[in-house]
Amino acid sequence: MPTAAPSLQWKPAQPRRLRAILARLRDAYGRPVPRAHRAPIDELILTVLSQNTNDRNRDVAYTRLRERFASWAEVRDAPVAEVEEAIRPGGLAPTKAVRIQEILRAIGDDDLSWLEDAPLEEARDYLQELPGVGRKTAACVLLFAYGRPDIPVDTHVYRVGSRLGLFRPGASFNEAHDEMLRLAAGASPYEAHVALIRHGRRTCTARAPRCWECPLLSLCPYGKARTKAR
Ligand code: SF4
Repeated sequence: MPTAAPSLQWKPAQPRRLRAILARLRDAYGRPVPRAHRAPIDELILTVLSQNTNDRNRDVAYTRLRERFASWAEVRDAPVAEVEEAIRPGGLAPTKAVRIQEILRAIGDDDLSWLEDAPLEEARDYLQELPGVGRKTAACVLLFAYGRPDIPVDTHVYRVGSRLGLFRPGASFNEAHDEMLRLAAGASPYEAHVALIRHGRRTCTARAPRCWECPLLSLCPYGKARTKAR
């Protein structure tokens, strides 16, 4: 099943369209409550652990890592096999263990607190230059650790946004990030991120989106085409 909206006649959306979508999702699921900010390095490592797994396994891996080692310096300097063993419940442990240690070596003694006040582009570029850190991970750190206005586009946000026609058909994840930032003018970046993920998990699922009961149906080209076809 295609995941995106029909490509014909696609035009860039306006910010008011995203605001209308968020208003409906707020009515359906409630307003997302921002969680307390974590320290930047904590958030960064947590996000690395979240890759290709669910929140529960990520949290188990993170908790085990923090319990096993007293500091990030200890994680950095430990035998990689010990880090790997600690994070095994999070999946892809061999890859993630190496990546975490590479990141911690690249950061050195920096606590990353300066990223809170650095120009957004500069902060994003710095994070993306760390080993294995891409646009989504950088956006997670900026949004969740500092409350900075960036919007991580994961597979749920990308799928839901594509079906709603927010992204150009075939847009890269990088382009989708830029588009979300443009569309989120006047909206809460945190709400935009969390609301689209919730919707992607609960209603606009990858294989069987429940368009007939979706509060966004009248705003959704993909849903309209799909419900009309049956
Ligand atoms: S109508 Fe709703 S569930 Fe269906 S594709 Fe659009 S956003 Fe997803």
